[in-house]
Amino acid sequence: MTVPPRPAHFAQKERRSIVAEGREAGVYEITETARSLTLTRLEILPDFRSRGLASGTIVELRAQAHATKKALAARIAKDDGARRFLERRGFALERATRTHLEMADCDEEDRRWMRKALEQARRGGQRDETPVGAVIVRDGAIIARAYNAPLSRSDPTAHAEIQAIRRAARTAGEQRLPGATMYVTVEPCAMCAGAILHARLDRVVFGAPNAKFGACGSQCGLLSMNCWNHRVAWRGGVLAAESAALLRGYFKGKRD
Ligand SMILES: [Zn+2]
Repeated sequence: MTVPPRPAHFAQKERRSIVAEGREAGVYEITETARSLTLTRLEILPDFRSRGLASGTIVELRAQAHATKKALAARIAKDDGARRFLERRGFALERATRTHLEMADCDEEDRRWMRKALEQARRGGQRDETPVGAVIVRDGAIIARAYNAPLSRSDPTAHAEIQAIRRAARTAGEQRLPGATMYVTVEPCAMCAGAILHARLDRVVFGAPNAKFGACGSQCGLLSMNCWNHRVAWRGGVLAAESAALLRGYFKGKRD
């Protein structure tokens, strides 16, 4: 008897025990498809909390995803408080529904470049600008870096993203930047999202959401619209806590 191959979208749900000291210390559930491994539940029994068992489970899942070449993700209920736990362990928010948050494990590559963007944000902050930084990466190297500079340049368009795009285009000697990814510490505004589309960037990775001006989900979803002749892939929430802390420090300093 031959078993027909499973379709690619076949999803298998599995409950696994977390064992410590010879007994069940917790439980987690994963849904596995041909391409992904999604954590849908993670609970540690009260007696076993604060021992790193939850973190250890993430490490194991990451290893399993890596070994099977699958993407690691998490789908959690909006109110279950797991978001910060997962963000601290490198997951980023990908999508929010009315009841659930979908998060994806970021690769170390994204975090590495975001740290470079955070360096730029700090430099901007030292010059009394709102601390937002950006780098543009192509072929594994930074081709432009910039920080927010509207104050020092008396130029309302001198956002980190615009500055970085200008520099990258000048360096490359071309007006379009296919194959490039922008890492920016805060969700781009409508002006910057427009510039990103004009520059034909492949991808944008951002850190903290921008509740007032964000155009990648917060106020509108410019980069998710199908009407443009170019699509830019994007992901938010990478090192979001660091980025938000810089902004908080800046605005607190302004108030004091
Ligand atoms: Zn902007």
